[in-house]
Amino acid sequence: MYYIVIDLEWNQTYHEKAVATQKELSIRLRGEVIQIGAVKLDEALRICGSYRITVKPRFYKKIHRHVMRLTGIDQAQLDHGVPLAEAMESFHRFCTDDAVFLTWGPDDMPMLFDNLRANKLSYTFLDRYYDMQPMFNRETDGEKRQRSLEYAMEHFGIDMNLPAHDALNDALFTARVAQKLNIAEGIRVADAKTGDHLFEAVLGDADSGERGFPTPERAVAVSEVTAPVCPTCKKPLLQKEPLLHAKGQKYQALFACEEHGEMMMCAAVKRNINETFRVRVILMRPDEERLTRYREKLANEKEFRRARRRPRSRRSGKKTATPATTE
Ligand SMILES: [Zn+2]
Repeated sequence: MYYIVIDLEWNQTYHEKAVATQKELSIRLRGEVIQIGAVKLDEALRICGSYRITVKPRFYKKIHRHVMRLTGIDQAQLDHGVPLAEAMESFHRFCTDDAVFLTWGPDDMPMLFDNLRANKLSYTFLDRYYDMQPMFNRETDGEKRQRSLEYAMEHFGIDMNLPAHDALNDALFTARVAQKLNIAEGIRVADAKTGDHLFEAVLGDADSGERGFPTPERAVAVSEVTAPVCPTCKKPLLQKEPLLHAKGQKYQALFACEEHGEMMMCAAVKRNINETFRVRVILMRPDEERLTRYREKLANEKEFRRARRRPRSRRSGKKTATPATTE
């Protein structure tokens, strides 16, 4: 087994072009991959190979000024890149089928998958991947927020002796941070977390061809959110505590199955490219931390509503809540 530390550079286009292309493809495509960089590590995290390829974009063909400034990749280099399908064949040979991918941050793999979908490609060798950011946070100060790669390098005293924003150099920097972390343990923790997901579904995903919901309210009116069933015995779950509507169109409620115990329903509404809405629903085993946060927020919400009710003496009844926004 190899760890493949991967980093991507992607091209962007101006807003109208991006919206039009995404609508036409019915696929999220916020950027188009123009460079893949990767470093291969063995199980002892020793570097044993490196990879870099320039990909010729198919939809966003003109190099964006900002991307050119950042990466140093110019139009001529892009034009001489290889098509994504060809690049992926060669990348696959480098990775082999027994690869575990490591990234810095959560963006690269979803971006690659969107690009593969736009090109009607699919590869199972990419299935196992992990974000190193939470591993770094867990092993250092336990912070939740995302730290930059530069921050992690500085923390470990790793020299920046190569230009950044080249996919291979960034992969190399990430690999050197990986060598300072307990990657096997980080993977175990990440697996345990997703192992807590008893049920997961995305409903109304117009970006992958389903019919989206016309409003966020309709998206969360589905039975998976309002009346979920136990993933094990399929009996209706009993709602134990009320629905919490958190910031950013996120919803949470505590349910329980008589036989299979407590489960937290988490739903998040997002806007599809065609302006409809989708909802991701997860049922998971609630850990203490999650339960505490949920109950605190519920209590705050109650307090907030109580505080608002009092001074509301002469408001016109017409005023409605501010419209919901997403992302
Ligand atoms: Zn059950």
